[in-house]
Amino acid sequence: MTIVRGHGWLDGPGVVRVERDGAVTVLRAARAVLLNTGTAPLRLPIDGLEATPYWTNREAMKVTEVPDRLVVVGAGPNGLELAQVFSRYGARVTLLEAADRIADKEEPEAGAALTTILRDEGIDVRAGVEVERVDHDGTFHVRVGGETLDADALLLAAGRSNNLGDVGLETVGLDPDAPVVEVDEHLRAADRLWAVGDITGKGAFTHVSRYQAAGAVADILGRDGPPADYRAVSRVTFTDPELAAVGMTEQQAREAGLRVRVGVAQVEKSARGWLHGPGTTGIVKVVEDADRGVLVGATVLAPYGGEVVGLLVTAVHGEVPVARLRTMHYAYPTFHRTVEAALKRLG
Ligand SMILES: Cc1cc2nc3c(=O)[nH]c(=O)nc-3n(C[C@H](O)[C@H](O)[C@H](O)COP(=O)(O)OP(=O)(O)OC[C@H]3O[C@@H](n4cnc5c(N)ncnc54)[C@H](O)[C@@H]3O)c2cc1C
Repeated sequence: MTIVRGHGWLDGPGVVRVERDGAVTVLRAARAVLLNTGTAPLRLPIDGLEATPYWTNREAMKVTEVPDRLVVVGAGPNGLELAQVFSRYGARVTLLEAADRIADKEEPEAGAALTTILRDEGIDVRAGVEVERVDHDGTFHVRVGGETLDADALLLAAGRSNNLGDVGLETVGLDPDAPVVEVDEHLRAADRLWAVGDITGKGAFTHVSRYQAAGAVADILGRDGPPADYRAVSRVTFTDPELAAVGMTEQQAREAGLRVRVGVAQVEKSARGWLHGPGTTGIVKVVEDADRGVLVGATVLAPYGGEVVGLLVTAVHGEVPVARLRTMHYAYPTFHRTVEAALKRLG
């Protein structure tokens, strides 16, 4: 294998141009080009922001001293995880979210429970607020909702944008302004071009990128393989407790025109609480396609939520009838017992 380092551009079907320090290498693919350019932090058009030394996730990972006061902008997975990490290291954290709730891509019940958990830990969680202006004079001054928050560090975690603007999509007949690269079920995007990962818009997760990579390689090598299937993609936000989900939310299922039944149960404090200590608050929510009697989505906010959701991934992916899930054994005392309670409440 030869690795050519540098910025790459597509240069017509099957051709890639790579540039580094003024030197250009042209590569001609015998079979295929695989595009996998990923994402970069979303830049927000906030007055004054670009003139300040704010952090993205990259700078936050390199920190050696915990700031006294940290403002985090964006309460999606990255913002939530890092807000809790810095708070537990001792920073006074304010978490700002423009949507009307945190974790707004996930079930509202989970977002509400997580809000309570984070507030109980001392994080100042504010949703439905827009940052109007940022200034920096050694201290950050973040103008939000008519108030100015002073902070020693500012972390921007307000989403990611796909690296597609400068990769030569137009040379293979694709729209360079499109937000994602459209791919078919074998990850084909254009003549001799396959695309995988975040840029395909099928879920910005490492496991989706790896799943797609395997499918694309099989197709490029002419091997038969199943078409890509995204019904049971799982996603985990690594807060404590973990917020994990699979498939559709209730709202997505309703928008898809399904006849929906949902069941919600609280994580039983008595199940493991005395062993696990803090972080035992949580919920499980299941979403059923009532006509087919199968789950199409589920959410777990619980310790080890990323592990617990695994059984629900099997249920959604395998279309296991809810009637059969209800007859399973659920070990006592575990967090996954809450799944049984949620299934009982389907209605
Ligand atoms: C802070 C953070 C935490 C995350 N945590 C999780 C997690 O816990 N679990 C999870 O599943 N996912 C997580 N993700 C998402 C995950 O990182 C991505 O979904 C995953 O890396 C797959 O990305 P990808 O394959 O599309 O490309 P990437 O991994 O982003 O790789 C793309 C590469 O292409 C390079 N590149 C871009 N343009 C060019 C060009 N023109 N020429 C040459 N090279 C180029 C980039 O520099 C980069 O190295 C997280 C993301 C962030 C930012």
